[in-house]
Order: sequence, then structure tokens, then C-alpha cells
Amino acid sequence: MSGEIAGTTAGHLAGFAAQEAPREQDAGAAGVPRIAYFSMEIALEPAIPTYAGGLGILAGDMLRSAADLGLPMVAVTLAYRGGYFEQRIDDEGRQMETPSAWSPENVLQPVDARTTVSIEGRRVQVCAWRYDVAGIGGHTVPVYLLDTALPENDERDRALTERIYGGDRRYRLAQEVVLGMGGVRLLRALGHTNIGKFHMNEGHSALLTVALFEEQMRERLPESLDFLEELRRLRQRCVFTTHTPIPAGHDAFDRDLVSQVLGEKRTHGLETRGLMPQGRLNMTELALACSHYVNGVAMRHGEVSRAMFPRFAIRSITNGVHARTWTCPPFQELYDRFIPEWRRDNLYLRCVLGVPLHEILKAHAAAKRTLFAAIRAETGVALDESRLTLGFARRAVAYKRAELMLSDPERLKRVVKRSGPLQIIYAGKAHPADEEGKAIIRRVIERASQFDDDVHVLYIPNYDMRWGQLLTSGVDIWVNTPLQPHEASGTSGMKAALNGVPSFSVLDGWWIEGHGEGITGWSIGEDSRGDNRSSELASLYNKLGTVIAPLFYAKPAGFAEVMRGTIAFNGSFFNTHRMLNQYVQNAYGLELLPSLVTESGVAEISLSPGGGRSGG
Ligand SMILES: *Cc1c(COP(=O)(O)O)cnc(C)c1O
Repeated sequence: MSGEIAGTTAGHLAGFAAQEAPREQDAGAAGVPRIAYFSMEIALEPAIPTYAGGLGILAGDMLRSAADLGLPMVAVTLAYRGGYFEQRIDDEGRQMETPSAWSPENVLQPVDARTTVSIEGRRVQVCAWRYDVAGIGGHTVPVYLLDTALPENDERDRALTERIYGGDRRYRLAQEVVLGMGGVRLLRALGHTNIGKFHMNEGHSALLTVALFEEQMRERLPESLDFLEELRRLRQRCVFTTHTPIPAGHDAFDRDLVSQVLGEKRTHGLETRGLMPQGRLNMTELALACSHYVNGVAMRHGEVSRAMFPRFAIRSITNGVHARTWTCPPFQELYDRFIPEWRRDNLYLRCVLGVPLHEILKAHAAAKRTLFAAIRAETGVALDESRLTLGFARRAVAYKRAELMLSDPERLKRVVKRSGPLQIIYAGKAHPADEEGKAIIRRVIERASQFDDDVHVLYIPNYDMRWGQLLTSGVDIWVNTPLQPHEASGTSGMKAALNGVPSFSVLDGWWIEGHGEGITGWSIGEDSRGDNRSSELASLYNKLGTVIAPLFYAKPAGFAEVMRGTIAFNGSFFNTHRMLNQYVQNAYGLELLPSLVTESGVAEISLSPGGGRSGG
């Protein structure tokens, strides 16, 4: 097999340009060098609960764009038969968890290849389920969900693909063996021999480098082995995206555990090659050492990552969201009328500047009605459509500081008395093992009861893809209050932008790039790192009371102008079509961008407005 990406000839892109759905048996034979994308979680659709948060949503959006743009990609993740969980919240704000039941058997196709990995000296059988992400032009990206729940396996091993981010360190490391090593081997068993790039979405899949290295070694005669040369070859094939801006967030395992799970021989191999500094296996460092291209997920995050790992040239590709998935039906309909090319090429959303403001307000009013109807159905609570409504939905973790905006109730009451009533809608799950996260939910709900009718605070249970779409499109303002610089990127504000919902946010992650004061939204506080709680709180209440609420209540056209600016400047840019093109241009190699090439080597897509839509 070729470890490198073959040169650009129209010939080897032809099979791809014909847009045939890839078949397992002939995936290698087609000769298209594919990109294999590995992620611990992927949000495929609401009915498949194999994701916990932003990382999985990003992975899903990346694949949706790859399918739309016709990129030759395959993806690997774990099947998580136990799902994540369904969240309910009682009157005291206690989170209750029930399993989110689903069966791969009911929604996915089994593949007829299998492989094995070695865990604690046991041979573990790995099978897989296939999900096809379908693109707008009919191209598909196959996703393989690895599964160890086979009767042949030891009971401990059967459970390895049950829980997402569950269990102890041993469980996590064993899962990462299944994902990284099992994933590479399963792709081979399926006939995917011609993979040009292996993309690790966060460090969880870094053990794929070990599987690839072992493949390379098997292809060489022992006497011709040159370790540095092999490492160079490996690095040429690997791309790594880091998502974690703080050292404690990186996955690392002690030597004893590594030896127990991977075996002493592999552990010793990693050690002698300098891949276990300080006697630990740090997945971020392993991925860094074995990749020729590494990036953070926003410009600031790249900077922060370089400071954390100064030996490595870490670049930035700012995250995006899949526009078609996260744009609500009323705005889809609006864009279809005025900017029909937006679905295929999100850059055209810039042209929304020519759409009349009343159309923007009308589409938003419809989205707000849809959200409020869903909330009424879920909770029985009727919200007021004429009121300024803020949204805050994200995983309940400490750095996101969900309760910040409620933390000075008297001041908030004064703001509201002066500038008009407020509705605040919260949502978000705490990880079942995260007591601090659960306490955040309790505190928000406790605070909520301290306000009278002028500040109506509501917590919607069970935040998931569906609520993500409803909330980011149906509120008037999207709020984010992370502790700088902990928000590597954040993506929910990008979903809001596609729906004309301006952000009101601390300057962190993507918002440093997306913020234009009074043009795309408003900042909370200054662009400075660290805990600036009191100045941020002052800025929050001050702008809410003197700028945002007065604009909303007294100057709807002025407010609509900001909505439109949000779409034009941020919707057109912070999407995964742009993001994926950046990966192609910077990380994968241009020869893997075949969407404009047909068998004759001529672009077949017409770029004239309204013409040349490629169906779907
Ligand atoms: C978009 C989304 C996220 C990620 O949003 P952040 O802004 O990064 O917190 C998490 N969960 C769900 C369900 C989402 O839709």
C-alpha cells in the first residue's frame, strides 16, 4: 500500500467524481486515497445517542460537510450501546438520569468484516456497524461504529463499547485501544487499503499511530529498519486536531496501567522511542509527536496550545457548524428564496445583506413560536413571544459558568425594571459522574425561583441535537460566559448566527474572531485572560440594560440589522464547509479536493445563481 497520497491525476479522482456510494469490498480498489477520520464521539442524528457534547457535534458536522463537498472520507467511532442518557430535573434542580436506549440493530447496517485487538492479554473481537452520511449531491461518507458486544468476548470486553466517557482509567484506555488500533485494523479488513491521511479528532484515537507504525514495521525487513525514517513516514500520514485548552484536560495514563492494558512489549516500545515522557502515556503528546499537521480549533486556542506544547508547530483552523443541519426551517425557506446557492456553498450567505429586514424578523418570529410551542409541550410553561429571550444551553461544567448571569439578582431586577422584562432559557446535561456539574444545575434552578415575573428563568431538560436546533434558532440572544481561555472554540453560537441570533458573550474561543460590537452581537467584558468575574458581570448587566434591551424593545429595525449582520459575517464563515476546505488546503493536501473535477477534469458545477444546483 502507499503511505503517501498519490499525485494529482484526473484518473485517480475519476472514481470519486462519479459519486458512487463506496462499497466495502471495492473501497480500496477504487484507488481514491481516502481520509480516515477518527473520533471518540460522533453526533450522527438525534435517534443515535452516541455523543455527549460539542466534540461529537463537530465530528458529525465535519462528516456532513465532507459528504456535501464530495470528499473521499471514512470515519470511525464507537457504537455506545448504552447511549449517553436522558435527563430529567426535579423541582429542587436534581438531575436524574435514565438510559437512552437504542439498538444498532434497528438503525444501522452490520458490516461483514471483523478484527481483533489485544487488551490485557486477551484477544478481543471487534465488529462494526455502518452508517452512511448522505451529502447534498448524493455522495456518502461511511461511518463505522465499532462494537465489542459479541458473545465470543469476555464479559469485561463486551462492555467496552457500552458507555461514552464512563468507567475508570482502565476502561478508558481499553476503549481507546478499540478505537485507535481496532479502527485501523477494521478499515483494513473492510478493504480500505488506500488511506492517505488519518485524522485524529482529539487525542482519544492516538493509538491509531501505534497500529500504523506496526503495519509499517511489518512491511520492512528487520535489517532495513530505520526508526527515524519510519516515524517520518508515519507523520506524513497523520493529522491531529487538539480541542483541550488546559493541561488537566489531556488524556494521560500511568505506565503500570499502560503495561497492563497494552502489554509490556508495546509499552517498552513506546518508551524506548521517547513517546512516554515522564513515565506516562499522554495521548495529546503521542498524537503531536506522530502528526505532520496539528491544529487547535480557533485562533486563540492555537495560541494557547502552542504555549502548552512549545516544541510543536500548532496551527489553527477555527471550527464551524453544518449550515443545513442547524438552520431552522423558516430561515432555510428564506435563504432558498433569496440566496438559493447557500446550501451548496455557505459563503453565499454573505448576500443576506440584500434581504429586507422585515423578512428576517418574520423568519425569526416563526422560529421563536416553534421553540415556545416545543417548550410548552415539554414543560407546560407558556412563554411570552413579545419578550426579550436569552438562551444559554451547554454542558453543565464549571468553566462555562452557567449561573454567572443570575449571580446578582438585585442588580438584574433593577436592569429589568428600567429596560423591560426578560425570559432566560437554560438547558444542559451534567456528566453523571460530575457532582460539580450537577450542583450548577441546582444553583441555576434555585436562583430562578428568586425572581418575580419580570425575569422568567426556565431550565429545559434533556439538551440534545433537537433542543440545540430549537434553542439556537428560537431565542433572541445567545449568551456565553466561559472562563477565559477555557472555551477552545464553542459552536452553539455559530448555530445561532446561522439563524440570525446574535451572541452576547465573553471574548473567548470563536467569538474573539466572530465578534463585531453592535454588528454581529456584543461582548461581555474585555479580551483578557483569567477570572474577571466582577468586570464581566458589570459589563453583562450594563450592556443588557443600556444597549441590548432598549434596541430590542424600542428599535426592532436596529435589532434586525444586527441579526442580519450576524448571518452575513458569521453564518457565511463559521460553518464546516469553510472549515473542511481549510483542512483540505492546509492539512490533507489539495489533491484530495476532487469536488470540482469530473472524469474529463472540467468543473461541472455552474456557479450562476439559481442554476446548477446539484439536487438533494
Ligand atoms: C452545539 C451543541 C453543543 C456544543 O455547543 P458549545 O457551544 O460548544 O457548548 C453541545 N451539545 C449539543 C446538544 C449541541 O447541539
